Amino acid sequence: MENLFCLRCNREIEVGHKSVAVYMFAQTVGIRPRQKSSAQRICFCPQCSVSLAMGPPPEGALNLAAWNMIRDLVGADPALNQAAWENLRGVVGLLPSGEPEPVPRRAAAGGYFEF
Ligand SMILES: [Zn+2]
Repeated sequence: MENLFCLRCNREIEVGHKSVAVYMFAQTVGIRPRQKSSAQRICFCPQCSVSLAMGPPPEGALNLAAWNMIRDLVGADPALNQAAWENLRGVVGLLPSGEPEPVPRRAAAGGYFEF
């Protein structure tokens, strides 16, 4: 399997790393022979998943369907939120400045993420 990129921020998502995958395929119904398109895998990194879920609904029926699914995942379990924070800390850790690492505030968990 090849490495994938987050659809939103283009960050590389290495195989086995935390991410949200949206699978999509089309198939004919009531038509013979039944045809099935190849499946597409669309990936979002944890930060973008959380950010999208917290944000306003997107335009377009397909986008809206994907948004609802991601919201389901983000809302169902804090693990995805946690993964987003972990990644954020990793990025901060790479910065060359000697600034103290900002401590993620739990109070912000229900708020708005901006990247
Ligand atoms: Zn992303």
